[in-house]
Amino acid sequence: MAEAKLIDGKALAAGLRQRVGKGVTYLIANGGPTPGLATVLVGADPASQVYVRSKGKLAAELGMVNFDHRLSEQTSEAELLALIDELNDDARVHGILVQLPLPKHIDTAHVLLAVDPAKDVDGFHPLNVGRLGSSAPGAPLDFPVPCTPLGVSMLLHETLGSLTGRHAVVIGRSNLVGRPVAQLLLRADCTVTSAHSRTRDLPALCRQADILVAAIGRPQFVRGRWIKPGASVIDVGINRILAEEGMSPLVGDVAFAEALPVAGHLTPVPGGVGPMTVACLMFNTWQAARRSSGLAVNAAEQPHLPVGLGESAKGKGAIRPWSNHGVRLEPAGGQ
Ligand code: NAP
Repeated sequence: MAEAKLIDGKALAAGLRQRVGKGVTYLIANGGPTPGLATVLVGADPASQVYVRSKGKLAAELGMVNFDHRLSEQTSEAELLALIDELNDDARVHGILVQLPLPKHIDTAHVLLAVDPAKDVDGFHPLNVGRLGSSAPGAPLDFPVPCTPLGVSMLLHETLGSLTGRHAVVIGRSNLVGRPVAQLLLRADCTVTSAHSRTRDLPALCRQADILVAAIGRPQFVRGRWIKPGASVIDVGINRILAEEGMSPLVGDVAFAEALPVAGHLTPVPGGVGPMTVACLMFNTWQAARRSSGLAVNAAEQPHLPVGLGESAKGKGAIRPWSNHGVRLEPAGGQ
């Protein structure tokens, strides 16, 4: 049997970034705002510093403004909430990203709840979580959706086109990845099975999957013999393992070498889902700025998004009761 086709997340993310950059230019040229992304980092975790720096840098490269806030490890919850209030009220800021994890003395749920849902470019606010959970198949996603799941969904749509009727097994049910992935696939008309650590006979379940998404956090956990021949396998996992000669390569949750001769499509790690995550953050920030301006999606400039991921003109005039700034009507601007 032929080897799986690799899904090139780097190339697809580069394409998405380019389209976001064009969208930003179009937005500004049509009287919209320059999208602003506020990044908030509490503490000095080296990995978080790298993530925040790269997000801010990419935002600037795509024509957005980055408002970078670095707070000490000792910052109190009240101080962090006060900053978020300020950013909520700042018209130059369209997206607020609070880098997780937060120090233990800060309640993450309080912080996520404080972010204006319209600026919640991570899609973690309970209102946006609820909107994703209750959005109808095919309806426009006119609210922020968590970045990694959005990236998974885009990779699948780009690779397979319509996902209608396919059986998707999603391993992992975290709020960050597994659960929103399952919801996105459900609204794409897949038949979805959510698997987790209490699932019985996981290998047999996986063998039924046309689409298999692994978001577990266990290196090379999904074996080749679990995969249905020809299935599309999306490996979200990022794990560092100890290898020979002191090397510590990154591996996914899927045993890549075993999956390669069985799967139809497969994401590599690194270079699969990872690059899509930050590109989707840029997408969410640009879209938040566009929504704040009331400008409609321009079919010519809008990235070619898979069905249901873009917004239709119906988004104009929609009531936004979820904004912290009160119920208001979007102006019917745009082209
Ligand atoms: P998480 O919060 O730890 O959730 C892991 C999920 O896997 C849980 O739902 C857990 O089930 C399930 N699980 C654990 N052991 C299992 C087993 N033996 N059998 C079946 N299910 C099992 O992790 P996460 O935040 O979702 O992240 C998952 C992976 O994705 C990690 O490797 C993470 O680094 C990676 N990730 C990558 C990106 C990216 O941009 N590529 C972004 C985010 C995360 P229970 O609910 O029953 O405990």
